[in-house]
Amino acid sequence: MPPIQRLSDLLINQIAAGEVVDRPAAALKELLENSLDAGATSVHVELAGGGTQRLRVVDDGAGIAKEELPLALARHATSKIATLEDLERVASLGFRGEALASIAAVSHLSLVSRRHAERHAWRIESSGGRLAPVEPATGAEGTSVELRELYFNTPARRKFLRTEATELGHCEEVFKRIAMSRPEVAMSLQHNGRAQLRVPPQSFTDRAHALLGAEFASACISLDERSAGLRLHGLLASPTFNRSARDYQYFFVNGRFVRDRLVAHAVREAYHDVLHEQRFPAFVLFFELDPAKVDVNVHPTKTEVRFRDPRAVHQFLFHAMSKALAPAAVSASPSASELPALRLGSAPPIWQPGLSSAGATHPTAVGFMPRREHIPLASRQPTGLYDVLFPSHQGSAVPETSETPPLGYALAQLAGVYVLAQNAQGLVIVDMHAAHERILYEKLKRALDHDAVPTQSLLIPATLRASRLETGLVEEHADALRRLGFELAVVGPDTLAVRSMPAPLGDADPAQLARDVLLEIEEYGAGNALHQRRDQILATMACHAAVRANRSLTIPEMNALLRDMEATERSGQCNHGRPTWTQVTIAELDRLFQRGE
Ligand code: ADP
Ligand code: MG
Repeated sequence: MPPIQRLSDLLINQIAAGEVVDRPAAALKELLENSLDAGATSVHVELAGGGTQRLRVVDDGAGIAKEELPLALARHATSKIATLEDLERVASLGFRGEALASIAAVSHLSLVSRRHAERHAWRIESSGGRLAPVEPATGAEGTSVELRELYFNTPARRKFLRTEATELGHCEEVFKRIAMSRPEVAMSLQHNGRAQLRVPPQSFTDRAHALLGAEFASACISLDERSAGLRLHGLLASPTFNRSARDYQYFFVNGRFVRDRLVAHAVREAYHDVLHEQRFPAFVLFFELDPAKVDVNVHPTKTEVRFRDPRAVHQFLFHAMSKALAPAAVSASPSASELPALRLGSAPPIWQPGLSSAGATHPTAVGFMPRREHIPLASRQPTGLYDVLFPSHQGSAVPETSETPPLGYALAQLAGVYVLAQNAQGLVIVDMHAAHERILYEKLKRALDHDAVPTQSLLIPATLRASRLETGLVEEHADALRRLGFELAVVGPDTLAVRSMPAPLGDADPAQLARDVLLEIEEYGAGNALHQRRDQILATMACHAAVRANRSLTIPEMNALLRDMEATERSGQCNHGRPTWTQVTIAELDRLFQRGE
């Protein structure tokens, strides 16, 4: 073994850069946060090549004194905290003093700053972490940081960068989060010389509407709740406005954007009875509490937090949101009387730190059943369903053998949800959506194991509006999508066309299906999404295409479903999630009627 050696400062910074600035958007976040910490009232961003070629942030904040310029680029140097007490009560966005040092280590950086009293600005440049002497420069009051050729000296990191469009998409997202959190600050974003986004100083509501669009604006409910030193305020969309991903979810803890499991869980519970479980609510919420009651120093990028009293926080968030949603919930459903109580009076769900609530954040486990028709689902005529769903069973729905198959023969459909059948033991009750979903899931899985999901081309391609991030994903993941059975094409700056879709899912809405799969890829994205998230993606597809509640099936269709289930069971796959069917024996029925006792 070679001897132990101290790492050089440059190498330390390059290692840190892997954590703090794994892509241009992360560098942008750090620079924007520095501008806000410096009290800027106006911040402008210029990008080129998705932020990789060039990334510049200009602010009108307090500026940095000439003597401090080299320190600003040094590791563990910060003006924001000096003691442990400061750290425990930190209110600024930055405090670790490592962002600029890390960024400088992996780019050509130029920092120009002028304090308010100074006659002119000063500049310091750094190339791969090597500093040049400070020089006089021209520049307005405030600070400008410009990065060129991000990762020029770390090819391994550069390899992880995605297409220009994808990196730009991530930068836009970061920009929006920051813009959302500080409506009083004027902000603009340019890419390759073209204006992308520009917002003046404005009220919070105007800012949210400007960034999330008119549809969100017309659906949102405002909220402001306080209790015991906690405050939650902002906007939340009524359940009628919902998304197929968590892309319209902005949650800020003391002004800092976070993604937190406890928060996600409280949100999901609050929307529990009013939102189809596979859809995601939209909101922009600010949660404020004593900084000493939350630890933001959990992760270098600070998007995770830890609350001192998670239970109290969860209860408060849940109650505040439920209260705001209560009136909307009633009007959202045509049959409000059917809603199984809004849980307002009843005991709130309790958050446990160790709760392994996969469902809280990833609600699409296989075998998941959408809540019964609280949100109207676009359902088509059942005509021809059988042919589409079970082509292999045509004409053989009720085999003429003397032996009863394990799941028996269908008798009827109950409440639009269950298939009742009779077998040798008695009554079989099948959850038709769950069963169909499971069958489709196994079919897709088998197809993918063997190579690729067979595809079926559409006579008329379906089109969908897409974000830049999504069009970028389509280009980037064309192969993965093809293996999933999709052929997607970018046909305009914000339009995608679905030319082919997975053959086993013939009945699904191609555009919606494609969108959900893209969002899935995006969310767990970079790297090899298909490989890592394969089962999740297939589960999403299966759930999407599975026969919905309240669709009436004919007896042959029901029998086909039973036969397909048997074939799937025999394939020896383990059963995921909740059961798809249950048996009630004749003996059990007899007991109900006290027969033979
Ligand atoms: P941190 O933000 O955690 O303190 P950084 O590496 O991001 O660490 O920045 C180091 C220091 O440089 C900051 O503490 C601050 O004093 C100064 N600085 C960075 N960017 C700006 C800016 N835009 N305006 C004024 N000062 C800045
Ligand atoms: Mg910082």
